[in-house]
Amino acid sequence: MNLFKPVRFLRKEEIEDKANEVLMKMQKEGFPLKWPFEASLVADALEIRLCWGKIPPDNDGIIAAKIEPIYRRITINEEFQKLKTNNGLQQSTIAHEIGHWVLHVNQDEADGIVKQLELPLNCKATAQLFLCRSIDKSLSQTQSNRQVDIEWQAQYFASCLLMPRYILEQKRRGRNLQNWPHLYAMADELGVTISNLTNRLQDLGWIYIPKDSKQIYLGNSRPNGQQKLF
Ligand SMILES: [Zn+2]
Repeated sequence: MNLFKPVRFLRKEEIEDKANEVLMKMQKEGFPLKWPFEASLVADALEIRLCWGKIPPDNDGIIAAKIEPIYRRITINEEFQKLKTNNGLQQSTIAHEIGHWVLHVNQDEADGIVKQLELPLNCKATAQLFLCRSIDKSLSQTQSNRQVDIEWQAQYFASCLLMPRYILEQKRRGRNLQNWPHLYAMADELGVTISNLTNRLQDLGWIYIPKDSKQIYLGNSRPNGQQKLF
């Protein structure tokens, strides 16, 4: 019995659909869908306990968060100070962990175990937990090993959850996407970091920012005359 789904390739559309399903569930159950977004409300809607606690590093290094399916609990490591001072990062981290929950936890199995066992502490499955190791998540990672794929999937889910297309459509009205102050204002209204926002907009093909550049271009292609040489 495994409380985690086997790792598999997920299409972007599939991940975005899952995030939208969660938002629709929230709306149906009367949770306010408003921006800046409060990712902790998603945990409430999914009946997941979201806790902050100290998680000591293990032999493999620092742990950002742990997910215990059988207790429907996600614990975020409170030792990451920057999570407390950077709201955008905090929202992104919570949404990322919820992404693991939605995409990677075998929820039927977890719920089944809780129902069946009188003494869940004796069950081997209670020991199954998922450790997430990084809060500096980037969607631009290119490594293709499985763990990175899982991390990428959770972060892509977070991005879709915090910045659904219809909200971005609303927020872009009257704004110039090539203007940094306008983008910062959008990020503020959405409650996300500027890099979360620019990653999302680039993924949607609305803007393009060449690597190591501050210049913003509209659309998803390189501007004329800026062909990649290498
Ligand atoms: Zn993770």
